[in-house]
Amino acid sequence: MQVTRRAFALGTLALMTSGCMRTLPTTPAAETSYRAVPNAGFDAWVAGFKPRAASAGISQATLDRAFRGAGYLPDVIERDRNQAEFTRTLEDYLAIAASDERIATGRQMLQRHAGLLDRIEARYGVEKEVVVAVWGLESRYGARRGDVPVISAVSTLAYDGRRGAFFEKQLIAALKILDSGDTTPDRMTGSWAGAMGHTQFIPTSYQAYAVDFDGDGRRDIWSDDPTDALASAAAYLQRSGWRTGQPWGGELGSQAAAWGTPLQVLQPQVPGPRIAVFHNFNVIKRYNNSDLYAIGIGHLSDRLAGGGPFRTAFGADATGLTLEDRKEMQRLLTARGFDTGGADGVIGSKTRAAITGFQQSVGLPATGEPSAALLNRLRRG
Ligand code: CA
Repeated sequence: MQVTRRAFALGTLALMTSGCMRTLPTTPAAETSYRAVPNAGFDAWVAGFKPRAASAGISQATLDRAFRGAGYLPDVIERDRNQAEFTRTLEDYLAIAASDERIATGRQMLQRHAGLLDRIEARYGVEKEVVVAVWGLESRYGARRGDVPVISAVSTLAYDGRRGAFFEKQLIAALKILDSGDTTPDRMTGSWAGAMGHTQFIPTSYQAYAVDFDGDGRRDIWSDDPTDALASAAAYLQRSGWRTGQPWGGELGSQAAAWGTPLQVLQPQVPGPRIAVFHNFNVIKRYNNSDLYAIGIGHLSDRLAGGGPFRTAFGADATGLTLEDRKEMQRLLTARGFDTGGADGVIGSKTRAAITGFQQSVGLPATGEPSAALLNRLRRG
């Protein structure tokens, strides 16, 4: 089992699947501006859409307000067209999903929001570590909520038509959110595909599950204050059938035996841990229909609760390098001035560019590929 890149863009680990209720690829917006450009076809589409929205119950005032500043976003279509299907291993997935940094920040968040998380756990019966793990994977604990205007993004995708029906549904839901007064068009931002706020709800998920936990009359998942968003994630899991106090799963041979007969034993990567999964694993998949995502949430929540890493080691990758080798290679490249964007052991575009730069600097063929020979060359200094 592997996961596609769209399920694991930098900073976000979520998945887009057809028929699934959530979509949320976000990569850092820094490279992309998401500026609206004039587009007569888009304008004509919006003019044709407005009567459909009105007959779905959206008020004229909301329609005017929502589309006043909205426009066609070519960068959104660019992103939609370039969701390459390259795969990640469980090891790479976990190296990012449960990185030392994500664990450390998550533990800080557990302390910082202890009272709130206790109240959410008491109300919805979802353990606070699980709620915080969802927050951590979806938006890096709120640091990556997305700043693309949702009405523009979703209407651009609806107009484009590749998944037009799906996104028109999202657009109607987004307009209903505005109609209800939960937020305003300029505050309604998200990923390029319309996933919003701390827990990256698409508009239809918001409509189904978002809650006003602080009682101010608005379900606000966008603001710096994560109160409503965290409660909404817990509400989502509760409504999906979360069983309080039950395990999601765990590595086979550890405490998993005491939990009874698992639904399934997964081994996404060989060699690698065999993972027994239980009912709550499938509940997490209701949030995002990916085994790796559910393992990532479950494992991160275990680490936040003080648990250790999986005990079974992953072997060397196809290039003959282990995770520790790859981290060492990244550290050595960075020390030589070729920035790999951190040393997480995951070979991404930055690491490949750094390898290419190093190869060129020492007169090697510029392949950009990691290898044992390259690591040895770096070690020699
Ligand atoms: Ca509220």
